[in-house]
Amino acid sequence: MSTRLARLLMYAGIAIGIGAAATTGPTAVRAGDGAQPARAHQPSVLQPAALEWQAASRAPTVYGLRRFPYPYRAMLALSSDADSQTLRKFNLVHRFINTTERTPLGQGLGLDYADSFFVYTANDERHVVDEIGRVPLQRELSYFEGTSQAPYGAKAIHVYVRVGWIDTLHTYGDFSQVDQRKTRFRRQLAAQAVAALKANGDSVDVWTDHGNRSNVDNFGARGRRRLYAYQQGDLPGSPYYHTDLTIPYGIRFVWPDISSNVFSRPSVVFPLRLADGRRVWGFWRYTNERYTPHGAVVWNWTPYGLNEQLSEAHLARLEADGGFAVVAQHLCGTPYPGVLPKEAVAALQRLARHAQSGRLLVARTSRLLHYNIARDHLRYDVTHAFGRTYIHIRAIDDPVFGPHVPTLDEVRGITFYTQNPRRTVLELGDRPVDPALVVHNPSDGLHPSIGIRWYPRDTADHAIDVPGVS
Ligand SMILES: [Zn+2]
Repeated sequence: MSTRLARLLMYAGIAIGIGAAATTGPTAVRAGDGAQPARAHQPSVLQPAALEWQAASRAPTVYGLRRFPYPYRAMLALSSDADSQTLRKFNLVHRFINTTERTPLGQGLGLDYADSFFVYTANDERHVVDEIGRVPLQRELSYFEGTSQAPYGAKAIHVYVRVGWIDTLHTYGDFSQVDQRKTRFRRQLAAQAVAALKANGDSVDVWTDHGNRSNVDNFGARGRRRLYAYQQGDLPGSPYYHTDLTIPYGIRFVWPDISSNVFSRPSVVFPLRLADGRRVWGFWRYTNERYTPHGAVVWNWTPYGLNEQLSEAHLARLEADGGFAVVAQHLCGTPYPGVLPKEAVAALQRLARHAQSGRLLVARTSRLLHYNIARDHLRYDVTHAFGRTYIHIRAIDDPVFGPHVPTLDEVRGITFYTQNPRRTVLELGDRPVDPALVVHNPSDGLHPSIGIRWYPRDTADHAIDVPGVS
């Protein structure tokens, strides 16, 4: 029902309550405030039959947003960097984590996990990244071959971006050099990469910084500490400046090479102002548990650290906190045929048990980040008519990219506590959401709830082989 119609009915003397004010009103409901809908006007004297009628027709109360889609209590994403990735290792790991097939690593876990990719490879270190085929580092999986414009893994990466097995750009490439004063990155490479990705429809909106100081295309932490002076991706005038191309390409979320030993957070995003004045969302990743006595980070983001990262204590704490966790990894980081050691497999199986129990929603990084923004900056209001309550989702008041009316995908998982889901109507603006996308949930101990359905589970095997790609 439209707010305007509600007002007309009210002027006509029909008992009706209007919740919060419309979009520009001072009492518009914001995320976290909890909805406080007005009660229906109640005449002072009513006959018993009328009282019964009114009780039956009283519109349910909305109690505000649930933190996560029912029944989940927390959300976690695995955010794995493309270092040392080969197509063979990528496929092995994704078949195990994403599908429910029998795989060499065990029964597939059926979790939503998306990876990252490089566009170029220019690393001059000498080691083997895959013992099978003795693949040298220079043949790790990247969109183009070396720093050329000849496709290498482009075909596979294109498929994986489309199906959701890749959602993150791990910088423009692996530019790590043995001599960190040198780099092979140039702005032109970024321009060519953006042109090719756009032409092929390969769009991702998450960026994670990579590697040592030769990776001058990194950005986001410049000015934080002297250590980060090497980052020039967002520095106008630098031969390595590219964020004037990269942000318009569609990057919205940036992990700016900052470590953290905090596993569970109420929110993982923060506004980030770049050196060129552009604004994006930064996000935290859990990268380490400890520091050396000298304060150096002891990274635990390899498969050998996965058991420590996904410990029972961490997962239980995350669920008790009702928090978000983005866990940094390098799941294709080992050169061994089986890729993941036994303890890492066991840790992922533990994660899957938490997901299956309905406590922990495991989601790809981009989905977690978008949900974090939508939930924390959702604007909605509540109206009542004829015993029903209408929740109107008006906008996501994104403080970085600006307020906008969300698409349905942007509000997937958004869940409201309500006295009675069956008599609550979810609307995007003033139009009811497609009933197929609305879920009614029983009480979780606090209240029943109504929400917009989370993404459908996809456990299909999307793995492909590409001739000539290791
Ligand atoms: Zn990396």
